[in-house]
Amino acid sequence: MMKNVEVLVIGAGVRGLSIAYSLAKAGVDVMVIEKRFVAAGASGLNMGLVNISGKAPEHYTLLSLMSANMYPNFIEELGADIEYERNGSFPGIAKNPEDWERLNQVVTERNQVADINMRMMDINEMRELEPDFSPQLLGGAYCPVDGGVNALKLTRALARAGLEKGVSIKSKCEVLDIRVSSNRIESVVTSLGNIGTHVVVNAAGIHVPAIAKMIGVEVPIFPERGQLIITEALPKFLSRAVESYKQFADGQVLIGYANERVGENTWVTTEMISRFAKEVIQVFPILKQAKAIRCAAALRPMTPDRLPIFEKVADISDFYIAVGHSGITLAPLTGKVFSDLIITGQTDIPITEFGMERFHGNQI
Ligand SMILES: Cc1cc2nc3c(=O)[nH]c(=O)nc-3n(C[C@H](O)[C@H](O)[C@H](O)COP(=O)(O)OP(=O)(O)OC[C@H]3O[C@@H](n4cnc5c(N)ncnc54)[C@H](O)[C@@H]3O)c2cc1C
Repeated sequence: MMKNVEVLVIGAGVRGLSIAYSLAKAGVDVMVIEKRFVAAGASGLNMGLVNISGKAPEHYTLLSLMSANMYPNFIEELGADIEYERNGSFPGIAKNPEDWERLNQVVTERNQVADINMRMMDINEMRELEPDFSPQLLGGAYCPVDGGVNALKLTRALARAGLEKGVSIKSKCEVLDIRVSSNRIESVVTSLGNIGTHVVVNAAGIHVPAIAKMIGVEVPIFPERGQLIITEALPKFLSRAVESYKQFADGQVLIGYANERVGENTWVTTEMISRFAKEVIQVFPILKQAKAIRCAAALRPMTPDRLPIFEKVADISDFYIAVGHSGITLAPLTGKVFSDLIITGQTDIPITEFGMERFHGNQI
């Protein structure tokens, strides 16, 4: 036996580390085991949007808003510069009247939820906020409550803050099996030896299903590939996220998106990368001369309804599942939800609609 711990978290992505940090703050003895390294999964390579405008239905919008509102305190606690900003975003650009009409409908729908206050802007107003928008555009949807962070810096800051609170993080430590006796977890078998524990949080991203299967639980997660271009550092020209473009504090621009169901494949494709390059120039002609220094792909842990899973498995005590899209947006809230559940058995954050029960009877 390598060690005994109160709570064992599997996966050193933003979810696992936020949960570990939150538990350690409350004095719980936590270990995080990670088969590669901190931020090796989706948490290390994504847009880093703290996004509300893209969330539906209403209970998901409200959950995202709640988490976004927790960010200022969360960051103050972490005490790290993670490039947090909350100065709105342009989640959609209208190049023609059809785009305008479609976006206008989205804006109307989203504004049914309190405190979103999205609105359409014409290109002149948009250029007052972002002067480098192409004057050829018609306009776009603006969401004042969206924001963003540098996702890699956030994930590393959570690891550091966790270590300071006593979390132990074991990298290059892969979960191989989970030992259960009378429906109670007894230990976790890893590539570095066995760890004794009665409480496990499965936050292994796209590998959540493989780990849950070790105790006979099915989780409907599939990898969804996104592709990105990263440019050389450019003088600051963009102050907020625009669709799937943003500029980091160091001047590099992140361009990209894509929702591809291609299994565990992290190749980039010339088709997608050249499409992104053509599209971004229509929005920001200033990028025409920019050099791409890197193209990369990452895999979102995605559910069939695109909403996250917050689950305490019913039949095995105590096995928790934390997985899904939008882990950056939901990071502060995720830590709180699971530390509440593990320490007190309940949480006042409304997560009942995010359990796995919603998939029962549906095709996975
Ligand atoms: C292109 C792209 C853009 C995105 N943009 C945004 C955005 O703007 N805003 C937002 O909120 N979200 C965004 N996301 C989603 C976000 O990246 C994810 O929701 C989040 O990073 C998932 O974090 P996680 O901790 O659940 O999983 P991960 O970060 O994938 O971490 C899981 C970890 O578990 C480890 N692991 C797996 N199996 C084992 C095992 N057997 N033993 C031990 N460890 C194991 C992995 O190595 C990995 O490090 C985006 C994703 C992509 C791909």
